[in-house]
Amino acid sequence: MVPKNNKEKFTKIHDFVAPYKVTNGKSFKLSDFDPSNTGPFSNEKKQEAKDLLAEGIELLKIQQDMLYAQDRYAMLLVFQAMDAAGKDGTIKHVMSGINPQGCQVYSFKQPSPEELDHDYMWRYLRCLPERGRIGIYNRSYYEEVLVVRVHKEILAHQRIPDELITKDIWRDRLEDIANFESYLTRNAVVVVKFFLNVSKTEQKKRFMARLDRSEKNWKFSSSDLSERRFWDDYMKAYQEAIRATATKSAPWYIVPADNKWYTRLVVAGAIADTMSRMNLAYPVVDKVKMKEIEEARQLLAEGNV
Ligand code: ATP
Ligand code: MG
Repeated sequence: MVPKNNKEKFTKIHDFVAPYKVTNGKSFKLSDFDPSNTGPFSNEKKQEAKDLLAEGIELLKIQQDMLYAQDRYAMLLVFQAMDAAGKDGTIKHVMSGINPQGCQVYSFKQPSPEELDHDYMWRYLRCLPERGRIGIYNRSYYEEVLVVRVHKEILAHQRIPDELITKDIWRDRLEDIANFESYLTRNAVVVVKFFLNVSKTEQKKRFMARLDRSEKNWKFSSSDLSERRFWDDYMKAYQEAIRATATKSAPWYIVPADNKWYTRLVVAGAIADTMSRMNLAYPVVDKVKMKEIEEARQLLAEGNV
């Protein structure tokens, strides 16, 4: 339940994030989304956007507290992007106000031998958030239809029998992912997916900064450069993934990612908007509990304990 005085704020947030939300993938085209878009904020209004972000983070804090106290729903936030799109920074900033006890972040890298000994979903299933918590996937099961699709040789490491690798394998995987998300939603795990949409030009700039600035050198990896050669294949794979899995109950947000300050604002807005629609409320204390509280108050006041 949204406190009355916040209702207006939530309507504004809802309208603000609506252009980036995809709930029906059928006619989705990545080229319809501009990575450098900054919505109603010009670069000069950056400070205004930053103040708004601070406000949004405050709202998130209250909502997370209710999610935790109510202990009915969980939230799964999936972050996908090309390298240097700002996943890490966005997660850090947007979740900065949140109680760490109610939040779990998992980064999925190349699978380990143990993970490869299982079906591909195994490692992601193990990290699903408990009720009352927010789970963040920094990369996710979508890698199985992105990096694995772009570099088909990775499939060989998954040791799937040849007869199961058909020409429809990507379509089938996407169908399974959509079904999996529908299963989660039906079990009160609210799924929200973010594609941080950075342009190839901005990525180049950020890689250059990693090379030029000593405090950023640690972030540079030569494999990032080689992946740039596959840019178009990745964009195609992203488009198909979003087409097949954007639904009302598990939407994608295509977040402009060429300006970090704006990326963070849209992501915070999208999470706040989702939570405002989740019927979150503090548990109501029943009569028995009320009596217990009264008795405890009396005991403490009288100095009997
Ligand atoms: P950053 O570069 O910002 O530190 P990152 O998420 O790119 O973060 P890296 O360690 O650079 O982390 O890369 C992880 C790599 O693992 C990515 O290239 C990703 O595509 C790859 N990866 C993730 N999941 C799988 C998977 N299931 N199979 C194969 N590769 C995967
Ligand atoms: Mg990387």
